[in-house]
Amino acid sequence: MMSVWLHRPRFLHLALFVAAYVLGCAFAHVLGIVPGTSIAIWTPGGLFMATLMLAATPSWPWWVLAGCVGELIGQFLWFHSPLPASLLMYVGNALEAMAGAWLVTRTCGRPVRLETLKEVLAFVVLGAGIAPAISATVGSATLAWFDIKSQTFTAAWPLWWIGDATGVLIVAPLALDVFHNWHGNSQLSAARWIEASVLGLIFLGVAALSLSGYLPFAYIIMPPLLWAAVRFELRGAAITLIVLALITTVFTISGAGQFAGDPESQRQRQIMLQLFLAISALSALIVAAISRQHQLAVLRLSQSERSLRELVETLPALIWCAAPDGKPIYFSQQLSGFIGFNVEDKDVAGTSRLASVLNAIIHPDDLAAVKKLLAHSLATGEPYAQKHRLRRFDGEYRWVEMRAAAMRSGDGAIVQWNGVCLDIEDQVRGRDELRLAQENLARASQAASLAELSASIAHEVNQPLAAIVANSYACQRWLMAEPPNIERAQKRAERIIQDANSAADVVSRIRALFKHSVETRTSTTLSSVIAEARDLMAEEAARRRVRMEVDVESNLPFVALDRVQIQQVLINLIRNGMDAMDSTVGDRVFGIRVRRMGDVVQTEISDRGPGVASPDRIFEPFFTTKEHGMGMGLAICRSIVESHGGQLWAENNEPHGATFIFTLPVDAAAEATVSRAAGNQSHAL
Ligand code: ADP
Repeated sequence: MMSVWLHRPRFLHLALFVAAYVLGCAFAHVLGIVPGTSIAIWTPGGLFMATLMLAATPSWPWWVLAGCVGELIGQFLWFHSPLPASLLMYVGNALEAMAGAWLVTRTCGRPVRLETLKEVLAFVVLGAGIAPAISATVGSATLAWFDIKSQTFTAAWPLWWIGDATGVLIVAPLALDVFHNWHGNSQLSAARWIEASVLGLIFLGVAALSLSGYLPFAYIIMPPLLWAAVRFELRGAAITLIVLALITTVFTISGAGQFAGDPESQRQRQIMLQLFLAISALSALIVAAISRQHQLAVLRLSQSERSLRELVETLPALIWCAAPDGKPIYFSQQLSGFIGFNVEDKDVAGTSRLASVLNAIIHPDDLAAVKKLLAHSLATGEPYAQKHRLRRFDGEYRWVEMRAAAMRSGDGAIVQWNGVCLDIEDQVRGRDELRLAQENLARASQAASLAELSASIAHEVNQPLAAIVANSYACQRWLMAEPPNIERAQKRAERIIQDANSAADVVSRIRALFKHSVETRTSTTLSSVIAEARDLMAEEAARRRVRMEVDVESNLPFVALDRVQIQQVLINLIRNGMDAMDSTVGDRVFGIRVRRMGDVVQTEISDRGPGVASPDRIFEPFFTTKEHGMGMGLAICRSIVESHGGQLWAENNEPHGATFIFTLPVDAAAEATVSRAAGNQSHAL
């Protein structure tokens, strides 16, 4: 109830509706052709149904009430039926309008515009076919019951039904069009006005000639009627239908034309007239809907074409299309703007368009490669992709990435090539700059490694040189002694030779390190290298009162290593550990532990010194806390271990001391060979 009140229409609209309804009654009265039947082309029915189709359902009671007022006024003014009969007939009319509106809106959804074939068919079948049956039943029964104009139910029913159906077919489309375009300003162009005027004249002429009986065939009106429907769609059809109904009725009432006759045959003729109007309406509405659908399809097509074109033109890429043989057929505006000419501008007699376009835009150095790849794609249908330089309108060549792919029909034949071209100049320039920066960096790091190398040479060679100098003095002393002690001098000379050799060794090792030489690597177990290092350091350890505890896991796997380099690492770490324990008061124990950890062999060298204050910094070149230290040892060790594919790091022990750990990857190939050999051996056994 509340919603009915909320949906009450504006009073002005209700008043207009009542006025139009009364006018419709007057129109129907005029169209009451068969004398004495009270039945005519019921125009208010079409108006009523169209109104309900557009109005919200909760507002329907208001329109029904307004319709009742209109009907009673019409009855009072023209039809003069008794009040109860008038009310009963109105009930039939209202039920017809509601049923028609409900069925059509249910089937097609709102708003009903009669723009599609589905809408028109639903409107014709449900609105103009089924709904009038309700009104015809109620109305004819009322006529028979109240014995109005001596009508029987069966005689009145068909006239009533077809009268209402024609009223719906002729008036509802016009009403719908008027309601929908009430606020719209659909202006016709001058040409359309001229066409409409010419059409109107022809229509009126043909209608007058045919319906007056001058031309024997009423349906000759169809061509101009359909013309109106095709060109002016629903509005054209609706207006011409109303005009047709008027002209037909006027001629019939005045006794002229095909549908007029003596009172006996008039009944038959009215049915023919109504059928004529109904068929005309049906045809015109269907044609109007088809025309509208066609117009909409054309509009949609042109819209999608426009949006596709806009998409192509606004994409940040240069786009082109070519025929299956490669002949360019379309350049996007951006591409034309970039190269400075349109697709057909380079056409010259004797040269294909493709060749002349390529010659004009591709850099001479890239032209041959482009032509070759393009020919390959055109021959095979494979996608084309290449980077080359493209000539801009100002003559500057810019790097672009050109890609194209074939568009194929359903049977796989190439119908067109579509291509896209991206400007990658900045990218290429950026890559060049990056390469330059990398080269600079490489040069800088080379300089850095040179500095490292010099420092390490100085560091490693310094010790044997010092020893050589010391031994040379000693040798000299023994030789200059009285008498010269040849034996001792000879021993010193031997040491000099040893030290000189080890200095030479250091130099060659460092050179090998610098080269990251892989050739000198052999596959061996770490245990032998550890044993050598321990032997080498044994004397020094004893001197510095350091006990060495070596724990090497048995059956260690093979590792590929440069023996000299790994020894250098071990000795460096051992010596560092001893240095660290110089100030240790308690047990000076030094531990070397080697074991396999998955794919690596891990060596731990631990001491009981004070531990490492900054485990990350100690690997930096020239970081030292020692008075005469160089800070190069650990940096070189890490470099050696990493060049072997391993890692070196330091950890502090609890409660004190440090552990230096390095890993070396297991030589999988050597391991596989060994296990295969072992397998063969056991097999042989
Ligand atoms: P240096 O030969 O000058 O000592 P290294 O690279 O061998 O250079 O070592 C760098 C620094 O790392 C040392 O100065 C020392 O401070 C620290 N360091 C190295 N090994 C140990 C260790 N076992 N315990 C504590 N500190 C250590």
